[in-house]
Amino acid sequence: MESYNDQAGLAEATAAARKAAEIGDDPYGAAITNGGTLLAAARNTVHSQHDPSNHAEVNAIRKAAAELGTEDLSNCTLYATCEPCPMCWSLILWSRIGRVVIGAKDPLYGGTDYQPKAFPRPELIFIESPECEALLKEAVSKQRPSSVGVAGIGLATFPTTQ
Ligand SMILES: [Zn+2]
Repeated sequence: MESYNDQAGLAEATAAARKAAEIGDDPYGAAITNGGTLLAAARNTVHSQHDPSNHAEVNAIRKAAAELGTEDLSNCTLYATCEPCPMCWSLILWSRIGRVVIGAKDPLYGGTDYQPKAFPRPELIFIESPECEALLKEAVSKQRPSSVGVAGIGLATFPTTQ
């Protein structure tokens, strides 16, 4: 049984994101481990499955919950190539995931500030990853042209120093 540390977990998420890009989906990836064991790795499938809710984190959480046979993922760590959006962050809270590790912050779509009182806040760890930053920039530049430049925000909002 392979033991996954944070670097290895993030590498699984990154590999999934690259796979998404290869087939024309947005280059986002996620992975979930439990006690050092990989439970799920998933990519964004929004375009290929025509489902706007098929973000990488959502797909990974569905797989992990099915694998464990429970919707309670409190002992799990979720790895995401970039900061989860508000939809994914809400699902992370609802599934009680205890730790979240991200490789890039997302100043446009990141939703980790959301914290309803009903849920404990997951531990949020940022591991600065140039590869994840590059994947995020690729996603923004290729897949969301309508959002770039709106209200003065866009690609210029992505300094690598944040
Ligand atoms: Zn999302």
